[in-house]
Amino acid sequence: MKMSNLHGNTCYLETRNAGLGLYHLNDKDVILLDTGLKETAEKELIPFFQENRFNLKGILCTHFHYDHSGGIPSLKKVYKPEVVFHYTENILTESSYNMYWISYSQKFKSYDLTLPEYKYYADHVIGDDQEVFSFFDQEFKILHTHGHSPYHISYITPDNVAYIGDTILGDKILDKTKLPYSFNIADDLKAKEMLRKIDCEKYILSHGGVYENIDTLIEKNIDNTLSKIELLLDFLKEPLSFDGFIASIAREFNVSEDISKIDYLQRCGRAYVAYFQDEKFVETIVKDHQICFRKV
Ligand SMILES: [Zn+2]
Ligand SMILES: [Zn+2]
Repeated sequence: MKMSNLHGNTCYLETRNAGLGLYHLNDKDVILLDTGLKETAEKELIPFFQENRFNLKGILCTHFHYDHSGGIPSLKKVYKPEVVFHYTENILTESSYNMYWISYSQKFKSYDLTLPEYKYYADHVIGDDQEVFSFFDQEFKILHTHGHSPYHISYITPDNVAYIGDTILGDKILDKTKLPYSFNIADDLKAKEMLRKIDCEKYILSHGGVYENIDTLIEKNIDNTLSKIELLLDFLKEPLSFDGFIASIAREFNVSEDISKIDYLQRCGRAYVAYFQDEKFVETIVKDHQICFRKV
């Protein structure tokens, strides 16, 4: 794992799976922005903190996805940091029923079975209208970049460095990803637009590294979503059931017939169908006892 100083007390931690932020309260006490996976915390962060004699005082989390907050339980055991989450993101992970609802899984217990150790409780929660969070006497600005996950938030450190989580993806990863995940397409587009209004020293992306300027990247991310909207809406020129719609996406992107991959497409595709319905781009009909969607 590599640590680089970005500006003032804010550093970037490059782990194998994600880019994280680290804010120094002093030589020893640090605040982490997202934790990465459970393995990241156990195999990379804890050894690194021990080697540098860092004391982890707090964790600011962008959203509940396990590649961002999966390291919390392991870090809690060693350092007992205070954990911060958006109020509703915290609720989502409190019960496997909530995860059932959000994951589109057919099994109530799938979440508990696949990620049994992934349970945490936030010590502080961020409210919907909250713009600043004071953490260990340091003021972190909150950006409500909802959409990638229901209440995804971004943080601006006191050094004016933005940690924007999954609001936008870096160049390379965007080119590679067939259909980037979004929970709410309309909110996600608004969140990407919101980033145009901030002016920070540096921007840390969870997947894509550090940028000094993200103007072109925001544009590229928005264009990517708009082109996916157009492509996916075209599949519905003929009425399709939800499963039929997902099968069309899978064929278009040559997705292998693997349950986890189709499950991922279902979660992504659901957001597009919801968006098409909300925007009245499709009508909902019943055909052969199946609910179908047709482009209007
Ligand atoms: Zn995510
Ligand atoms: Zn992520």
